[in-house]
Order: sequence, then C-alpha cells, then structure tokens
Amino acid sequence: MIIVMQSHTSKEEVDKLSSKLQTLDIKSENISKFVGQQKVILALMGDTTNIDSQSIQSLSSSIEHVERIKKPFKQASLEFRYGEYSEVVVSTPKVTVPFGKNHPVVVVAGPCSVENEEMIVQTAIDVKAGGAQFLRGGAYKPRTSPYAFQGHGESALGLLAYAREATGLGIITEVMDSADLNKVAEVADVIQVGARNMQNFSLLKKVGAVGKPVLLKRGLSATIEEWLMAAEYILAMGNPNVILCERGVRSFDNRYTRNTLDLSVVPVLRSLTHLPIMIDPSHATGYSELVPSMTMAAIAAGTDSLMIEVHPNPKCALSDGPQSLTPVEFTELMQDVKSLSKFFNRGQKLPFATAQFATKSRLTIGV
Ligand code: PEP
Ligand code: MN
Repeated sequence: MIIVMQSHTSKEEVDKLSSKLQTLDIKSENISKFVGQQKVILALMGDTTNIDSQSIQSLSSSIEHVERIKKPFKQASLEFRYGEYSEVVVSTPKVTVPFGKNHPVVVVAGPCSVENEEMIVQTAIDVKAGGAQFLRGGAYKPRTSPYAFQGHGESALGLLAYAREATGLGIITEVMDSADLNKVAEVADVIQVGARNMQNFSLLKKVGAVGKPVLLKRGLSATIEEWLMAAEYILAMGNPNVILCERGVRSFDNRYTRNTLDLSVVPVLRSLTHLPIMIDPSHATGYSELVPSMTMAAIAAGTDSLMIEVHPNPKCALSDGPQSLTPVEFTELMQDVKSLSKFFNRGQKLPFATAQFATKSRLTIGV
C-alpha cells in the first residue's frame, strides 16, 4: 500500500503522519526524492491486507489518495515506487557503481570458479582493462555432480579480496549455504544467490538480513512471478538493493544451447518492477560462440547490466569452460558493448582514474 500526499507537503506534515502510522504499528518509508517539490509518496511495509484505506486517508488532510498494491510482489512492484525505477548503488572500497534503468550498462566479468591466485588476479586485470566494473568468480559452486569441482571455498574468497585490492574491481560471488554467509558477505560487494537457490526461502531471508546488495538469479524453471516473489523475500527483510539476473530457462532443446535466454523478461520486468536487470548470456547459452550476439541483443533489449564468463584458458577451466570467453574475445566484445551502449545512451563514462590519466597525458602532450 502506498500513500500519495499532495505536492508541497511539508516535511513536518510527513513526519507527523509517519509517527501516527507508527503508533498504529505500521512501518512506512518515504520514497520521494524531493520532499516539498513534488508529490510525497509513503510506502507501507509488511502485510497491509488488514489495513483499511479509509482510516489511513483520515490521518492527514495532506493525503491525496491511498493506493493498494494488487500484485502479490508488493515491494518489488513498480507501483510500490510510484512508477520510478530504483537504482542499486554498490559502494566498493575504490568505486561506487550504480545499477539501474537511468544509468550506464554495468559489466560483470570473470571466471566461473576462482581456480588459483594467478588466474583470478590476471583475469581481473584483463577484464578491467576491457572495461568491466565487477569481477565475478565462484568460491562455492553449485554443480550437478557431487564429483565435479565444488569450488575452493574460503580460500577462494581470500583470493577474490586480493584481486579487488589489486584492481579496484567490485566483487560478486555466490553464497550457497547460510553457514558460509558471513564469510561471503565479508568479501562480496554484491552477494549472488544462484538459480538453484532462487526459491531457498530460508537462505533468501538470511541474505536479505545481511543488508548487502543481492544479485538474484532466475531459477531454472521459475516463472517471472515466482522470481519476483523470491526478490520480495529479500525486500521484506528491509534490504531494497536487489538486482534481477536472467540466466536462461529450461526448455525442450538443450542440444545446441544450454538454456533458452528469455530476453522478453527485459520489457516484461520493466512493466512489473522497479528493480535493476542483469542478463547473463554465458549460462544462458552455454557456448562462447553464442555469447557476443546474445550480449548485443541484451543491450538492445534494454538490460541494465551484463554478466559474462571469462577465463584465461577456457579449455582447461575447472567449470564452464565451453561458455567462457578468452580475455581477447572479451576485450573485442567490449568494443561492441561500448558502441552499442552509447547508441542507446547507456554508455559508461570514463572511470575517474582513467579520466584523470587522460587529462594528464593530454597536458603532457600539450607541453
Ligand atoms: C554462476 O553464476 O556461477 C552460476 C552457477 O550461475 P547459475 O546460478 O545461473 O547457474
Ligand atoms: Mn558458471
């Protein structure tokens, strides 16, 4: 449920209403950016089924109207933000990167698994040079076979932290088990919940409670509504920073593509939710040859971010080699990513350090 208040409602009036709501045991959040200049929107948190709109309306003469959100995913719905798309701002020790519809396309790249120090640091350097803002890499791997490489666990987390220190890239890594959550949260700038755990509701609650941004991958056969309800679990824990990642769904043919990339989710999610969107063409297709075209299609469809697997030597990768790009292929793809993002007005501005360097070198040339 949201409360729409008249434009120019004073901060005092908004605070007075929030306190009245609080005495009725209703938690509210002011989601308006500029109080006093535009309509003020108060979003009511929690289960509001038994709250009567009429009695809310009577709490303040500044209330224009009260809207009940009919979708089952309340806080994830676009209505909950009164039609405004939210941004998830990830602050890493060295950079701050916003994800969202009104921001440049963010690129997350790196190997499926963290294999050793040299490979993760070198991959981090390479993907950064190509233009990625985040390094991905699994420490805990959800594998179909119990005999397949399961990830190096805690030691891999240490290597990710080291790669961040070496490059300044943000870190995205998956948590599979709540027993590892604190350790993962200590290193990750964004905690990934993988496709196989999308409906692990107890894990979602615990991840939500940590308060770090969360990347929620779509389940292998999850409907869009099930996916948004999974996001709702995290939001309901008071964590508004959720990014939705499409990574392909199961369909009848897995001979030529590992999964089926459902790119129609981009416009569908735009109509349903305010949350930022990521597309993972690597897990969606399973083959590196298919990654470039699906990456470009994802940008054209309007994705906010991309996740691309990159390995220094895909043939020897401990997991997901066939779908991993080499650093050279990634760098080539990034040229097209940059051009196409710019075409759609979603181009990255030069990172601060690079901009500074460019100015300096221009000055030197000028002298
Ligand atoms: C991954 O990103 O490492 C991964 C295992 O992906 P998914 O959960 O989409 O299969
Ligand atoms: Mn993988």
